[in-house]
Amino acid sequence: MGARENNRAFPSIQGDAVASRASAANRSICAPDMRRCGGVTGAGAAQPTGNRILDALQPQDFERLRRHLEPQALVLREEIERAGEELRHVLFPTSGMVSVVHLTDDGASVEVGLIGNEGVTGLFGLLGADRSMHELIVQGTGAGLRVELGVMREELEVNPDFRRLIFRFARLVIANTSQLAVCNGRHSVDERCARWLLMASDCVNASHFPITHEFLSMMLGVRRQGVSVAAARLQKAGAIQYRHGHITVLDRGRLERGACECYRAIAATFARFRGAKDVQAGRTGGQRLSAR
Ligand SMILES: [Zn+2]
Repeated sequence: MGARENNRAFPSIQGDAVASRASAANRSICAPDMRRCGGVTGAGAAQPTGNRILDALQPQDFERLRRHLEPQALVLREEIERAGEELRHVLFPTSGMVSVVHLTDDGASVEVGLIGNEGVTGLFGLLGADRSMHELIVQGTGAGLRVELGVMREELEVNPDFRRLIFRFARLVIANTSQLAVCNGRHSVDERCARWLLMASDCVNASHFPITHEFLSMMLGVRRQGVSVAAARLQKAGAIQYRHGHITVLDRGRLERGACECYRAIAATFARFRGAKDVQAGRTGGQRLSAR
């Protein structure tokens, strides 16, 4: 296994079997070790949470929200939101990654989005909906800060900086959802499988991570047999190794050549989002997001 800090396209999360919790603790006061999350209420205002929206807020705005922030662990494969359920909270991931999954009437499913520490769950709720449209499933061990939806709706009303940050994140979500719609409709299972494995590898910041064919088929919206065949072809080509419920990326270049254009497109969207310069005087210097 190998961490690839310099080759990461997506916000880093902690793979449950592979990643160093110490490195996460260095990045965020809300590392997977939830004992550290008590620091949210006691931390100095200049200390970043690890979530890019929260860390881009003005100090006085963050101080107003601080007492409402509840640390929450993100547990691999846990459902943190279910389609049709009333939305009561939003969650700002500080590490980890959450898959947004759409369910059909016959029980099929397909991943339509990803939320990491650049964003927040419950976007529909912030935009006025009372119930969730999607299942939200944790893709890797991490942590976040939960807030009551009503509190954040009030913040949207009174805080134009927060409103700009949320609208900007909404544009990222729309862009990636559009790309995934193209991917799901136009690209082969083999290409999508390679694309998803690359994204997952980026998310956990490791080349070795747990995944079952069943879960991968759920994310790609295809039959398990189709995923097994695609994974077998990638393995035969020397791009990956699949053993005992774990994937190892053996040849990243080969895997990238096997993926569709969507991997590069989504990675570029994330990179632009994360790299944009802040126009607000946020709290955390280099970790600020643009509020454009
Ligand atoms: Zn694609």
